[in-house]
Amino acid sequence: MINPQSYKWFFETTTPVEGHMHAIVRTLVQAQTKFQQVEIMETASYGKCLVLDGRIQSSQHDEFIYHEALVHPGLLAVEGAPKSALVIGGGEGATLREFLRYPSLTRAVMVDIDGEVVELCKRHLPEMHQGAFDDPRTELRHEDARAYLERTSDRFDLIVSDLVEPLEEGPACLLYSREFYKVVYDRLTPGGVLTMQAGMTKIGEQAFFTAIHRTLREVFPVVAGYQTFISCFGTPWGFILAGKKIDPRKQDVATVDRLIAERVKGELSYWDGQTHQHAFGLPKHLRRAIAAETRVVTDANPLIVA
Ligand code: SAM
Repeated sequence: MINPQSYKWFFETTTPVEGHMHAIVRTLVQAQTKFQQVEIMETASYGKCLVLDGRIQSSQHDEFIYHEALVHPGLLAVEGAPKSALVIGGGEGATLREFLRYPSLTRAVMVDIDGEVVELCKRHLPEMHQGAFDDPRTELRHEDARAYLERTSDRFDLIVSDLVEPLEEGPACLLYSREFYKVVYDRLTPGGVLTMQAGMTKIGEQAFFTAIHRTLREVFPVVAGYQTFISCFGTPWGFILAGKKIDPRKQDVATVDRLIAERVKGELSYWDGQTHQHAFGLPKHLRRAIAAETRVVTDANPLIVA
């Protein structure tokens, strides 16, 4: 019989009026970097978790759902076999790990502003990166991803935004605006794609997702939202694919399964043709909220999460 009093608890406030509690088995890291507060803890339900500024970023037991949903719809919607991919943020290295499943990829770049977080993940979360940082195709940089994209003239088939939410005073505030997405558009190849994590999609908390969706429509001809339930977050989570050509909502079960068979080495655990249909088939209330949204996020009018 498990006694709740035999545990310490981590209480994550998912909104100012709601939260999710996790029993802590042990704490591996508690540190303050130049950019954020970092904790790596082992929880009773989800194994090791990375927590930044009090927010769970990913958990050992269900990160495959988050990272496969973040990466594969993008690499399957690139026109032709993908050759290069960039992740902005991506601390744990699991996004990089999913890129490296594509043998056609010759270049996998990760730009995370916080070298200390990445070092801690390398040391304490090998289950997540699985050696991705040592792959010869990997190029790791530590700087602000917007500064990097504004400076480089390189182009990528896929750019993934795997950033922390834009918390007040946080490092990611200027990476969720129309101006930033224009820079991303320019750095994509003609058949290139952006995918991003785009916040919660639960009732009462959809404004972030719908505003980013509206903002991306100012820049990209194809914008498709999708969602999946992330157990360790305790809420459905939104993602958005923005592209120049291929619309993922037009890719049927057989097409997605065929592309996975052609492009991916090894077997995926979450993403396939059926999961794809389910994720992109948004429910009516969410489609309505997207259609009703008018807010365009700009550098001058940024979106800050409480
Ligand atoms: N899985 C995540 C989630 O659910 O929100 C996000 C993953 S990852 C840990 C987020 C990373 O974004 C952090 O490691 C952080 O250092 C990085 N980051 C924040 N702002 C950034 C910026 N301006 N440029 C590059 N990386 C940034």
